[in-house]
Amino acid sequence: MDQREVRYELLHPDELNDIVEKAPIAYVPLGSLEWHGRHMPLGNDAIKVYEICLKAARITGGVVFPPIYWGTECLKLRALGVRDGTVDVDYSTFKAFLLDIVRRIMKQGFRVIVLLTGHYSREQVSAVKEVAEICEKITESVRPKGTPSVKIIALPEYELSLDLGYHGDHAAKWETSILLYLRPELVDMNKLTDLLGIDGEDPRKSASKELGEKVVNTIVKRLCELVKKALIELGV
Ligand SMILES: [Zn+2]
Repeated sequence: MDQREVRYELLHPDELNDIVEKAPIAYVPLGSLEWHGRHMPLGNDAIKVYEICLKAARITGGVVFPPIYWGTECLKLRALGVRDGTVDVDYSTFKAFLLDIVRRIMKQGFRVIVLLTGHYSREQVSAVKEVAEICEKITESVRPKGTPSVKIIALPEYELSLDLGYHGDHAAKWETSILLYLRPELVDMNKLTDLLGIDGEDPRKSASKELGEKVVNTIVKRLCELVKKALIELGV
């Protein structure tokens, strides 16, 4: 790809036209604002999948929309007297918002839409998959008239690396490793004095940049394969 810029908000209209003509692919990174241990930022989930989407788009072409940080069903530690940083929205708000966004993205002529969620609460994953199904299957009632068919790839990023052992932890071995690789300046292991709000293996003993690189590379490669397959199925 000779495409220089993939970040949607930085494109000029002529650049957007060129991209949609060449590769009508839209990546939409979805995350949350919630406690991710004492060593990682509140927005980890969106930051993680945003970086993954940027890497994929630089291979497949297409655009990456700004990450959506507003997630649903996030971790709450307030009962423990902790300011957890969680600012989430209700399931119905999240789903309605996402549905609107995907419909508007379709109007711009994108044919393959990737909804990659780095936050995988039960409600968030189900909203993402339901929106994908609505937009793909109940097309005529939901899709703007005259819009061609679309393929929507909707999943949490860990689903692309299950065989490596990553099943989606929370600020533990895997998420810490991934951020150590993608945005090391955002991780401060010295702050990790306890494992409050961490679900998975102790990252102090198990996380590494090398593991992060391995899992990210696997996810990016497989995501690109899914996108290319979708383009072929659409005849694009
Ligand atoms: Zn997370």
